[in-house]
Amino acid sequence: MNSTAGAPRGVIPAHLLKGQKALVTGANSGIGKATAIGLGRAGADVVVNYVAGQEAAEKVVEEITSYGVRAAAYEADVSREDQVAAMTERMVEEFGTIDILVANAGLQRDAGVTEMTLAQWQKVLDVNLTGQFLCAREATKEFLRRGVVPEVSRSAGKIICMSSVHQLIPWSGHVNYASSKGGVQMMMETLAQELAPQRIRVNAIAPGAIRTPINRTAWETPEAERDLLRLIPYDRVGEPEDIAYAVVGLASDLMDYVVGTTLYVDGGMTLFPGFATGG
Ligand code: NAD
Repeated sequence: MNSTAGAPRGVIPAHLLKGQKALVTGANSGIGKATAIGLGRAGADVVVNYVAGQEAAEKVVEEITSYGVRAAAYEADVSREDQVAAMTERMVEEFGTIDILVANAGLQRDAGVTEMTLAQWQKVLDVNLTGQFLCAREATKEFLRRGVVPEVSRSAGKIICMSSVHQLIPWSGHVNYASSKGGVQMMMETLAQELAPQRIRVNAIAPGAIRTPINRTAWETPEAERDLLRLIPYDRVGEPEDIAYAVVGLASDLMDYVVGTTLYVDGGMTLFPGFATGG
């Protein structure tokens, strides 16, 4: 690990999201976990969604409640319409409403194109794209029902889609994943355009290489990490907290005028570092 590695340090203002209710999907691991904790540190009550791994989800809940806010773990597969509807209904019942959706759940099923099965293609599209659509749709119904509550937030709701640098950078051997994230970008921008007049802010975060289980092989050996760093001008692998802090900022009224934008949090990966010395 080089001297610049490690999670960013920072104090999250504990009242930034006070009184807001946040739902984070896929929140028992990696980026979702750090994000759920970050939102809790910022004063939000948080629903920690998971599809498998209840124990890990309960641990996240425990940590969030240690910051003096409410949290609960809800099981739901985001690619299942009935389960997403039940999850959001339960959240409204138990937490009163929903102010912030972080549509984060995602997965990879990698293969070269001739080896990729329809099941691999479909699974990734179902979770990464359809899952975000279903969660966004259900959250939006609640945002519209409730409207703006000025003492809570200037907007009626915030949706933050977890995209990827691969909404921009093609990724050989991952056509399902890159296509899903390209779809997330257009879904996000279309929803942002459709919902802005109702004062609902839809935005995305596009992480670069973040140290989580999804991409373990890319960073777990020194050789792999060295290769990876060639793609990252800022010369460190990202940490889940890098994304969590971006979500907290984007969800807060400090960024109330940010609508329909993708925030790249990637250490410069999308600056085409190969061109720094060539081209
Ligand atoms: P992760 O594997 O640690 O977390 C993914 C989470 O999604 C897990 O909790 C998993 O159980 C959950 N999930 C998967 N299928 C689900 C389903 N059907 N319903 C509900 N939850 C489900 O990986 P991560 O890196 O934390 O990934 C989080 C998001 O960030 C994903 O959308 C991923 O595409 C995106 N992302 C990650 C990176 C990175 O470098 N780690 C880079 C770009 C984008």
